[in-house]
Amino acid sequence: MKYLTKGFKNITLIKLEVTMKQEKWVEKDFEEVDCFRCGTKGKLLYKKELWGVVKCEKCGQVFISPRLTEEGRKKIYEDHSYFDTGVYGFSNKFNLAMSLQRTWSNDRLNLISELLNKNLENKKLLEIGCAYGLFLNFAKQKGLEVTGIEYSSTAVKWSKENLKLNVHNGEIETIKLPENTYDVVCFWDVIEHVKNPELFLKSVRRVLKKDGVIVFSCPYFNSVPATVFKSNWWTLRPEQHIWQFTPDTLGKLFGEQGMKLVKVIRNPLSRINLFRFDSITVAAKVV
Ligand SMILES: [Zn+2]
Repeated sequence: MKYLTKGFKNITLIKLEVTMKQEKWVEKDFEEVDCFRCGTKGKLLYKKELWGVVKCEKCGQVFISPRLTEEGRKKIYEDHSYFDTGVYGFSNKFNLAMSLQRTWSNDRLNLISELLNKNLENKKLLEIGCAYGLFLNFAKQKGLEVTGIEYSSTAVKWSKENLKLNVHNGEIETIKLPENTYDVVCFWDVIEHVKNPELFLKSVRRVLKKDGVIVFSCPYFNSVPATVFKSNWWTLRPEQHIWQFTPDTLGKLFGEQGMKLVKVIRNPLSRINLFRFDSITVAAKVV
């Protein structure tokens, strides 16, 4: 129990660390969007300031509408403070967030190793949204041949200069990577940010080998914190998390692209999700 209490204090600490510079958003920074799957308007669940949290009545997909326009969202990702959180960013000092990040990275690699029958040597891994390249560098040290894609030019520059990583600046939908190439495609806390999850997944499927695996994490909307705290849920962050998934809607999304979820890990005490009470780690394969 003592261990658990310590964990909860730690969560508060992380929450404080991810507080970013606040932009003043006004109505003209917002746009209304429809469900990416059905093209229909969502039904309002609740409001948070100028953002609406809505649910598609046809397929159950939850999303943000009105949401910030692409231009507005881009401003957030180019902000230098975006990755300086200790969780995704880099710090020379020891801190708890970095230590948790290492725990997650270690177990993410263990899961990938298990999915590839314990043979990582020379396998090709693509990470989408690789931030400062910490996971990518870790995977490289384990013998994987790594490539990254990152939206923020600030982070790309840093990982190229400091970690000598092979990282492309941009998005998977527009970068011309060779088809049928990667044994693993991973994206940690990314799918909730992308413009259109269907187009995103089609692009992932294109570069993945037929027997390859996809491994990713994301917040989930039927988690206890999301259900209890609603608009005060700390991971709602509607300025960036424009799609909200559940294991069900993820299963639907992957199913439509000829894939299936082979593993969904919810346990916040498993090392891969340690102290993440509202996030899941998922593995998927081509059917
Ligand atoms: Zn829908």
